[in-house]
Amino acid sequence: MRMQLSLTNKNIGIGILVIVGIFLVLGMFAQPIDNRKDVSLSQIVDEIGKNNISNITVDQSDLIATLKSDASQKLVAQKENDASATDTFRNLGVSEDTLKNLDFTIKKPSGVSFWTATLVPVVLPFILLAFFLWFMMRSAQNMGNRAMSFGQTQQGPVDQSKKKKTTFAQVAGNEEAKQELIEIVEFLKHPKKFQEIGARIPKGVLLIGAPGTGKTLMARAVAGEAGVPFFSISGSEFVEMFVGVGASRVRDLFAKVKKNAPAILFIDEMDAVGRHRGAGLGGGHDEREQTLNQILVEMDGFEQTDNVIVLAATNRPDVLDPALLRPGRFDRQVTMELPDIKEREAILKIHAVKIPIEADVDLRNIGERTPGFSGADLANLINEAAIFAARENKKKVSQRHIEDSIEKVLLGPEKRSKVYSKQEKELTAYHEAGHAIVAYYTPDSDPVRKISIISRGFAGGYTLKLPEQDKRLHTKTGFLSELATLMGGYTAELFKYQELTTGASNDLMKATKLARRIVMQFGMSKLGPVTFGQEDHQVFLGKDFSEGRDYSEKTASMIDDEVSDILKDAQKRADEIIKEHADKLELISLRLIEKETIGQKEFADLMGGIDPDVTKEDAVAKPTV
Ligand code: ADP
Ligand code: MG
Ligand code: ZN
Repeated sequence: MRMQLSLTNKNIGIGILVIVGIFLVLGMFAQPIDNRKDVSLSQIVDEIGKNNISNITVDQSDLIATLKSDASQKLVAQKENDASATDTFRNLGVSEDTLKNLDFTIKKPSGVSFWTATLVPVVLPFILLAFFLWFMMRSAQNMGNRAMSFGQTQQGPVDQSKKKKTTFAQVAGNEEAKQELIEIVEFLKHPKKFQEIGARIPKGVLLIGAPGTGKTLMARAVAGEAGVPFFSISGSEFVEMFVGVGASRVRDLFAKVKKNAPAILFIDEMDAVGRHRGAGLGGGHDEREQTLNQILVEMDGFEQTDNVIVLAATNRPDVLDPALLRPGRFDRQVTMELPDIKEREAILKIHAVKIPIEADVDLRNIGERTPGFSGADLANLINEAAIFAARENKKKVSQRHIEDSIEKVLLGPEKRSKVYSKQEKELTAYHEAGHAIVAYYTPDSDPVRKISIISRGFAGGYTLKLPEQDKRLHTKTGFLSELATLMGGYTAELFKYQELTTGASNDLMKATKLARRIVMQFGMSKLGPVTFGQEDHQVFLGKDFSEGRDYSEKTASMIDDEVSDILKDAQKRADEIIKEHADKLELISLRLIEKETIGQKEFADLMGGIDPDVTKEDAVAKPTV
C-alpha cells in the first residue's frame, strides 16, 4: 500500500517536471499566431513611404510593422540592437514628418521570455540536480518503507479468531494443561466474575513442552474456545520485526492488542526473544534485550481491567530469562507432556478421522507400538500411512500401511535401492544379529520387535526394540543391559571377522553418552550418589562454558576412568553372551541374509521362546543401529 502511494508520488513529480519543461520551451520559442513575414528594413521603409503602416512595434531588435490594410498582417525586420528605431529609419531617409506621424510602440521584454531567457540557463541545472537528489532519496526511503510494510502486512500479527476454529476437542490428552487453559478461557469470557471476588487474572501463560507436543495447537484451541481476538506471532518473526527497530513498535503491538481487548496475544517459540539476557553467544543481543525489556514493561503495564492475556510457547524453558517467569508476567506455566498409550490412541483417532481407513486398523495396537512419539509424530505417521496406501493405489489405509510407517517416521525412508556388496550385507547381518541376541539375553532390556538389514535413513540396518509400556523410571540394570546391547554389534563383528569396521561408530557414540550420564547424572557408579556438572544443554545457553563444570581436574579424570570401565564391562558382557550363544548368532544372521527382515515372532521362534523378560520398558523407542 505504502509502496503504491510513493510510486504515485514519483509519477506526480515526473509529471510536474515534464509540464514545467514544456512550458519553458513554449515560452522560449512560441510565436504569436500572427501572420508574420520577414522582410528587409528597406521594404518597411517603402511601406512607410506609401503610408501603408498603422503601427510599428519595437521588440528589442525586432521592428514589427502592422499594415493598415490588414491588422493581422505583420512585417518583421531586424534593426541593429543598440540603434534606436527612429535613428534607424532616419538613417534610411525617412523624413522627420513621416516619423512623427508613425505610431511607435516600444515593447518591454515580456515577463516570460525575459525570465526564461535569463534564468533558465542558470537555474535549470540546479532544478534538475535538486530533482535528481530528491528522487534518489525518495527511492532510498521507499526501500525502507518496503521493508517495513513487509514486516507489517506479511507478518504483523493479525486477528486469527475468525479463521477456522480449533477447539479443545481437537487436542487429545494433556488433561491438566487443558484444565488450566479452560480457566484462562473463563477469565476472558467472564472477567467480572473473577474481578468481583478480587482474584488476580494472570497476565501471561507459558506453554512448555517438547517439540510436537501440541503447544501451538493448544494455543489455537484456547483462542477458538474463548472466542476473542487472537493475535499470533512467532518468536522469530518477533525478533525480525522488532529487534533493532526500537521499543516503540513493541509498544504499538501491545496497544493494538489492548484496543481489541478482551484478546489473546500468542508468542510462539518464545525462546527466540526471551533468552537469558546477557547470555547471547555472539553479538547483537543488546537489541534483543531491549525488545525483551519492552515486553516486560508492557506486561507490567497491563491493568487488571485490560483483559489481555499473553500466551507464549517454548520447548526451552530453561533458556528463558528468569524475569519473564516472575509473578505478574508469565506466572502460569502449563506443561505439555509426550502422550502415553491412551493419549497416543486418542491422537491417532483424531487424525485417522481425516482419512479413509480399513476395518482392520487397530489404533490401540499402533498406540502401543509408538512409545516416545509426540503428537506431531503421530499426525505424521497417519499421513505417511495415507501416502503409502495411495502409492499402492489403495482406496483405504490398512493396518499394514500404518505399521510400516512407524519405522519410516522413526528412522527415515527405506533405501532398498542401495546396493550392498555381499560382504557388506553379511557384515550388517552379523552386526544386527549381535544387538538382537545381547538384547534377548540381558535382563531388563526391551524386547526385539524387528531386525532388518535394509538401510534406512542413516542406518545401514537396525534392530528395533520397543518397550512394552511407557516408563518414567529407569533401572541401573536396564541401563547396563542397554549398554551391552549397544556393544552387541561391535562385538559380533569382532567375534565373526576379528576385524572392526566403521559401522559401529554410532553405537559407540550412544553408549559413551549413556555411560557418561550414568556416572555424572544418575549417581549409578563407583563415584557414588553425586551429580557432576550442569545439564549438557546449558552450553547452548551461551553461558560461560566453564560454568557448567563444578568439579576438579582430579574428579574429571576419575569420571573418565569410570566411564571407560563401564563401557569395557558392557563390551565384555556382550562378548560373553555372543560366545555362549554363537549358534544363535549364526542362525539369526543367516536368516537375515536370506530374508533381510525378521519380525518379533519369528525372532522369538528362532531363539526358542519369547524373551524371558518382556516386561521391560523404556520411555522412548530406541532403535539400535
Ligand atoms: P508444538 O507447537 O508443540 O511443536 P504443534 O502444536 O505444532 O506442536 O503440533 C504439530 C501437529 O501435531 C499439530 O498440528 C497436530 O496435528 C499434531 N498434534 C500434536 N499434539 C497433538 C495432540 N495432543 N492432539 C492432536 N494432535 C496433536
Ligand atoms: Mg509450535
Ligand atoms: Zn549397531
